[in-house]
Amino acid sequence: MNKIMPELPEITVLNRQMAKEITGKHIHEVEVCQPKCLNIPPEQFVETAVSKAIGQIYSRGKWLFIKLKPDYNLLINLGMGADLLYFKPSSKLPEKYQFKLTFAEHSGFTIRFYWFGYIHLLHEKELNQHKLTAKLGISPLDKEFTKQYLVKLLEKRKARIKSLLMDQKNIAGIGNVYIQDILFNARLHPNRKANNLSDQEISDLYDAIKNVLNSSIKKGGLAYEKNFYGQKGNFGTEDFRVGYKTGEPCPVCFAPIEKIRTGSTSSYICPKCQKL
Ligand SMILES: [Zn+2]
Repeated sequence: MNKIMPELPEITVLNRQMAKEITGKHIHEVEVCQPKCLNIPPEQFVETAVSKAIGQIYSRGKWLFIKLKPDYNLLINLGMGADLLYFKPSSKLPEKYQFKLTFAEHSGFTIRFYWFGYIHLLHEKELNQHKLTAKLGISPLDKEFTKQYLVKLLEKRKARIKSLLMDQKNIAGIGNVYIQDILFNARLHPNRKANNLSDQEISDLYDAIKNVLNSSIKKGGLAYEKNFYGQKGNFGTEDFRVGYKTGEPCPVCFAPIEKIRTGSTSSYICPKCQKL
């Protein structure tokens, strides 16, 4: 299986662990080794962040939002994947990292992007204008994401269901990993038109989104991604039903699973259970 990008379950796991470890701590030192990841000059970044305290931490899509009290926000996007790792005063630091943040009591975290990522610092007033996050849709785990919300999102939309669900402006956090089993569980071909789904299909789709994402979160996210403590998740190949299983039997009807091209992405489908 290729290296795959972190999606909502991995970000949610990181988010929860970070909230537990660093909330309330004061930033003592910031080390920037890759200024291109920042939205402002490194000197200004460091000066603004140092001595601020960590407030609420939440996520939207693939972004982590860390409140720096009283009125700043640290936004982190792990891009194609990254090690975002906690360290204690006694811990050995990773050999390579692009960013390090140390708290007053000498714990902290490092970030090492595999390819490229963002670490942006924004004043409260600038959040609404932040190009990369201002238009993100709601998270499928938010309370606002109801069946009715999904019905409204799909009606009158001629887009194909897969690309609609992966468009972060509609729903933030579903990428090409979890979408495979989400569509299979709802028995939907990725190229179905969004506005042609029956009420029952929308209802099944809604349940599939919640179930697939939550089952990965319960297992700590993907077995390929490290959490805040450097441990990998437990959601592995065996947990996918059709995703990444080309040629293997469909878990429902035993037809061989096919890998097909859908727009710019690959899809894994059962040709019998997911008819166009
Ligand atoms: Zn099947």
